[in-house]
Amino acid sequence: MDLEITYLLNSGFLVRAGKTLLVFDDFEDPTHEVKKAIEQGGFAQLYFFASHSHFDHFNPRIQAYEAAASRYILSDDIRCRNGCRGFDPAKLTFLRTYDRWQDDHIEVESFDSTDLGTSFLVTLKEDDTKIFHAGDFNWWDWTGDTAENRKLAENAFRKQMKKLAGLKADVAFFPVDGRLGPSMEKGAKVFCRETDVKALVTMHSVGYPVWQPAAGFFAAGKEIPVWSPRVSGEKNRLQDGRLLK
Ligand SMILES: [Zn+2]
Repeated sequence: MDLEITYLLNSGFLVRAGKTLLVFDDFEDPTHEVKKAIEQGGFAQLYFFASHSHFDHFNPRIQAYEAAASRYILSDDIRCRNGCRGFDPAKLTFLRTYDRWQDDHIEVESFDSTDLGTSFLVTLKEDDTKIFHAGDFNWWDWTGDTAENRKLAENAFRKQMKKLAGLKADVAFFPVDGRLGPSMEKGAKVFCRETDVKALVTMHSVGYPVWQPAAGFFAAGKEIPVWSPRVSGEKNRLQDGRLLK
């Protein structure tokens, strides 16, 4: 299915897939894209996802959309931190790692993160379109850190990558964080090599220049389209497997 993707901020995205709207990690939405999409209508289902409770991924103000929302699918650590007091329990689902949830329209599978919470694989039942949102799963290789900590970060990443190896998705949202400097694309590089994703949207790099994959980033013959949005409200379309921008 063709997807219209709108960048909110940090790891926040609005995805329109036919009659389904999916909102990921909407901690801030400076250009009010979610509100505008709700007012515009033309959708039958609206799902909110939050990968973990950190302030740059989850903001309880998404409760304001409760009347329009079909469901909030939140990482379990948000419940543990009492982050969603006041939400309608009938519209809340908490997922632990390696958990599943489905309704008539979508199926959600959660994986582990290397930070807090989960990543999500969402399948649209209508035509099996698959969307992966990594949350803060990444190879967090901080170059100034001790060798021991850097090894721990690598081990945690590689351990989780084993569970994701061979994963198929039409598009993956994955961190390429400018703060990691020379290591910023390490995680995305391994992820793209070890999974079968067809397009990459990078995230979690507020304030850094647009990223482009260096030569050799993709395995030979596995080059895929990349989008690295920077401006809130920026839109792209995944059409016939190609990103239009
Ligand atoms: Zn984060």
